[in-house]
This record gives sequence, C-alpha cells and structure tokens, in this order.
Amino acid sequence: MPTSPAAGPLEAPLTTLRGVGSERAAQLARLKLRTVGDLLLHRPRRHEDRRHFRDIAGLQLGDAATARGKIIALGLKRWRGGSKSVFEFILDDGTARLHCRWWNLPFMEKYFKQGDEVFVHGRLNSLRPRTMDHPETEVVEAGEENFIHLNRIVPVYPLTEGLPQRWLRSFIWRALEEHEARITEPWPEITAHGVAATFRLREQSSASRPQAEARGYEMLPARANAIHMLHFPEELGDVEIARQRLALDELLELQIEIQRRRQKLQASARGLPCAGDNHLIKPFLTRLGFTLTDAQTKVLREIRKDMGGQQPMRRLLQGDVGAGKTVVAGCGALMALESGFNVALMAPTEILAEQHFQTFSRWFRPLGIGVQLRTGNRKTPDLAPRTSHLFIGTHALIDSGFAPANLGLVVIDEQHKFGVTQREKLVRKGRYPHLLVMTATPIPRTLGLTLYGDLDISVIDQLPVGRGHIKTFVRAQLATPKVFDFIRGKLKEGRQAYVVYPRVEESENGEVKAVTREWEKLRSEFAPFQVGLLHGRLKAEEKERAMESFRANKIQVLVATSVIEVGVDVANATVMLIENAERFGLAQLHQLRGRIGRGAHESYCVLVADSKTDEARQRLKVLEETTDGFRIADEDLRLRGPGELLGREQSGLPPFRFADLIEDRALVERARGMAADTLKKN
Ligand code: ADP
Ligand code: MG
Repeated sequence: MPTSPAAGPLEAPLTTLRGVGSERAAQLARLKLRTVGDLLLHRPRRHEDRRHFRDIAGLQLGDAATARGKIIALGLKRWRGGSKSVFEFILDDGTARLHCRWWNLPFMEKYFKQGDEVFVHGRLNSLRPRTMDHPETEVVEAGEENFIHLNRIVPVYPLTEGLPQRWLRSFIWRALEEHEARITEPWPEITAHGVAATFRLREQSSASRPQAEARGYEMLPARANAIHMLHFPEELGDVEIARQRLALDELLELQIEIQRRRQKLQASARGLPCAGDNHLIKPFLTRLGFTLTDAQTKVLREIRKDMGGQQPMRRLLQGDVGAGKTVVAGCGALMALESGFNVALMAPTEILAEQHFQTFSRWFRPLGIGVQLRTGNRKTPDLAPRTSHLFIGTHALIDSGFAPANLGLVVIDEQHKFGVTQREKLVRKGRYPHLLVMTATPIPRTLGLTLYGDLDISVIDQLPVGRGHIKTFVRAQLATPKVFDFIRGKLKEGRQAYVVYPRVEESENGEVKAVTREWEKLRSEFAPFQVGLLHGRLKAEEKERAMESFRANKIQVLVATSVIEVGVDVANATVMLIENAERFGLAQLHQLRGRIGRGAHESYCVLVADSKTDEARQRLKVLEETTDGFRIADEDLRLRGPGELLGREQSGLPPFRFADLIEDRALVERARGMAADTLKKN
C-alpha cells in the first residue's frame, strides 16, 4: 500500500519528541508506534468518563464501572511456600469500601501505597464485601497535567510492559498539541463535499452539508478533528464519528488504488481480439452431453463481449459450487483458441489441476487442441509450436520459466485461494491477456467491492437441472455408529462416499498420522468395500492414483483431509461425512459439501460435531437449513471475520485500523463512489 499523502510531516520518528529516550522508544515500538503519525492513530481501547463517577455504594453485582477513592489499607498474602499469592487493597470513596484483588501478581504491591488516590475500572464480582478482581488501575498524581487525566472523557490505550497509561495519555496529548495543526486532508478534492471543517459539526451550518446530505451521507469531521476526537472526545458518541472518518480514509485509499490500477490498465492496454468465430465452440457444445443453463449462456455472452472489446477483460465469475463454472471457462478458452491465442488455466491444488487436465483433455483433444499440465511435480510433454494450446497448472505456472508466446486468456480457478499479486504475476506473462477469475466463495457485497473493486462481476445464479438434492444433518459424536450404518447402506446401493477430517493436530505431520489412523479403522469398518486415503503430504502421483481409483469406482470410500475442498467432481459420490465439523468455517463446509450432489441421486452430508460444544452445533444448523451460499458466507463473515473467510494471507486486504468490513458497508460504498467520481474528473 502506498502511504497516504497525509503522512508527510508526521513521519518524524518519535525519538524527536520530548521525553522519549531509547527505553521509551523500544516500548512504543512494541506497540508498532514509531512515528508521530503512528502515535496519533494509536486507537484507544476504550474511553472513561471521568466527569461522573459511580458511588461505590451504588455498584451492582456484575457492573463494569469506574470508581475513584483512597487506599485505606493494603497487603500481600503468600502461601504454598510463596508460589501462590494475592495482593489486595481497600478503596474508600466516602460512600463504601471496595476490595481490589490481584492473584499471583505479587509485584503489584510496589505500585501502590496507603493514601493513594486511585481510579479502578472493572467488574464487581462480589457484594459482601464489594470486590473487583484484577481491575485496571490508575493512580492520581499531583501535577500540572492533571487536566489531561481528570474531569473529562479520557482515552484508555493498549499498553505494553513498563509503559504507564498516564504517561502515554500525556504524551499523546502533547503530540496532538504540537502536531494537530499539521494534519491535512489526504484527498481534499474528494472529501470536500462530505467533511465539515469544524469540530462540533452537527451544530455547524456548512455550505457543503446539503451536498453531502443530498447524497445520503452523514457529514463527517475533517481528519485533524477526527484524530483529536478519537483521543479526547467531548461526548462519548464523538468517538464513533471519529472512527468512521478515519475508516473512510482507509477505505478511500484502497479504493483509489484499486480504481487507479484499473484506469491505468484501460489507458495503456488494448484488448487482444479473442471473441472467436464459433468454429470450435459449436462442435464442443454439440458433443458435450448437456445443454448450458440460461445463467451459463448469459455469462458467456458477457465474456464474449469483453474478449472482443477494446480493453482487456478483467472479470470475476461467481457461482456456487456445482453451478458449472468449468464449462464456461472452457467456452471462454475456446474463443481465445479460435482466435489463434494460447490460454493458461491456474488452479490452487495439484488435485484440481490434474482433474482439469483430464476434463479438458477429454473435451479439447478431439478438437485438435493441445493440452499441457504443469505443476510443481509433473509436466506433460511439450506441445508442438505454432498451434494454439491450453496450459493447465498450479502456481508453478507463475514461478517457473513458463512464458508462452501469444497468451490471449488467463483463467484462475478458485480465485479466493490466490492473492491479488499472484493474479497479477500470471497476467504479466503476456501482453495484457484477458483475465477470467472464478470463485465459488460467495463474497458478501462489501468484501466484493473491496477485494474485487477492479473486476467486473458475472454470476451464475442457477444450478443445472436434474441435480440431486443435498440433505444435511448435524450429529453428535455418539451417533457415529449409526452414521456408518447409513453409509454402508448407500455403498450397497452402488454409491460412493467421502469421509473428511479437519486439521486435528498442530503439525501437518500430526494431521497425516491422525487421518492415516482413521483410514485404517475405516478399512475394516467398511470391508469388503475399498477405502482410499488422500492427504496433502502424498506425492502427486499418489494423489492422482487415489483420485483416479475413486473416479473409476475401484475405491468406494475416500478418506481425506480438506484437500478435496475445491473443485473435485465425482457424480457417483453422494455421501459425505465430515468429522469434527465444528473446526471448519461454515463457508468451507459449504464448499466441501459441494463435492456431493453432483449427479441425479439424492445426496447426504453428515456433519459430526463434538457433543461437548453445543454452541458449535448450533452454528452448524445454518447448513441444515440452507444451501444458499450467500447466506452462509454472510453468517461466516459475521462469526469469523474476513480473514478467516478468505484465508488470512490470501485475502490481499491491508490491515485496517479503523474500518470494519462487516459493519461499514455504507462507508465502503461511499468510498467507492467518491473514488470513482474523482478519477472520472481527472
Ligand atoms: P463448479 O462451478 O463448482 O466449478 P463444475 O464446473 O465442476 O462446477 O460443474 C459441476 C458438474 O456439473 C460437472 O460435472 C459439469 O460437467 C456439470 N455441468 C456443468 N454445466 C452443466 C449443465 N448445464 N447441465 C448439466 N451438467 C452440467
Ligand atoms: Mg470448479
């Protein structure tokens, strides 16, 4: 991420401020505070209203409250030869006494003495006597800086060892005094119509206010005021307003970056003529064995328009598991191949790359098109030059010396498994080829705008007809024998089954051991049916052999880790048992379950969750109720946050300090609109 233009004068290291020696600087660095700018954006953990205190006598059990009083007694008790201890002081505010205790933190003793005036913030966990365990404390010191700490709403910051709350608060106060005037608007031309220059914005009549309101936005304070309000608000509600303003800046920065990238591409690149002439697609569709759904056809029309257009296509294809994205990618590939260009297809796992290799070999070789596989472990023979080819691979396509001439289209399957940079690297292998990225993860709209702001979006919102239903059941561990009986029944009917284990141990080695152990058990459980094993540590050939045997129904039960999460397509497999399902995210379970329900037969997904975790089982019920991927993704985002949903590193998102992609839907839209407006003008 580029630093925002606001960073300029605030980039001075903190050691240039009064009172910061090397020891303080090291402590501040532990909080990632290195420059004045960092310090000014150090977000308070909470605020405390020190204009009003609760009387100790009035505190109720369970209340989280701040009290103020004098220490009238204190002491440290030790037992078990000194290994256990409790430090306690008694606070009196004139209305009642409050016992404050710290267990096994004997050093607390040295911070307090009798007669000290102290603030404590905590939860009352007993009434007789009134007691708080491990409250936060701050000793009131005499001094001219008391106006910073008393009789106002004060910020309470995240700290690190050795750094006192009071010192940091004074330090930030002084830094604000000195530097606040230098905080500028990062994008004055963009925010001019939505930002009040003055602090008490609601009472102010500002010329720009009607314009902001006409767009349906709340006025927000100028950045400098927002930063002041973040630390020292006049009202508690100001803190949220300040946060929104700072969040808007973060989102704007990202949106401007995304949209600039796109604009630059449009200005500098001409789309390669890849719309094709149907001479390959026609015979392909005739021989395919099914007709495309309306949704697939609609998307293909969008793709054809892009690939024949002036600018390189940048399109995201979203479609729930089983919606039939592969065949759409196939038709897109044929358009480029018809036009005389090569095509590259990248998949996130070797298993999926192998599967695509098989599918596309079957589809394309009869049409006279060469298909080559390139993964870290396997490379099929090179193809004759001077005809058009399809190259299929894993990220080895990026890393290796792979650089085909005449690359017309890049397809990335299961895009959410890759980062933005990987996507760009592959595209740069050619002269602005068209790009189609596909994902089954239904991205909630806010995230979509943020992650894929530079892509056009197509959605396959319809499953092919004649699909069997998937019925989902959540069961406790105790029910496992019954589930096995059920699976055996289905095997006898001629169906196949997956049994999936999550990462159960810390190391990958441990995981392999665990799944191998289960496999041995299941072999006798399901005999005489054949039980295969698939996990990430197997060699590429072993993985492929296992998949191949399963596809050919030489194996009836496949025991696997979540390596089969994406893309695997075996229509006769209609049962999936997922063990320890509570360890997976909902979206991931939805993906896993998408491996079944691919043929005409009714399919069954059984989620077995540890019976001790009732709450987890409750969460899984969503999957019993719906197969709507969007609803599931929203629920997941709410429960686990975007990092978990998308895979933390892969999400490609900058770490936001103030923005919250779940709560700030409106701000994301606003930032996107603002960025688009400005870039249009320039
Ligand atoms: P995904 O969108 O999850 O990648 P796939 O492309 O793997 O789904 O498609 C799932 C299965 O549905 C494949 O076996 C595919 O051949 C089949 N399929 C795709 N489109 C249709 C269709 N229009 N009618 C019937 N079957 C289809
Ligand atoms: Mg797929």
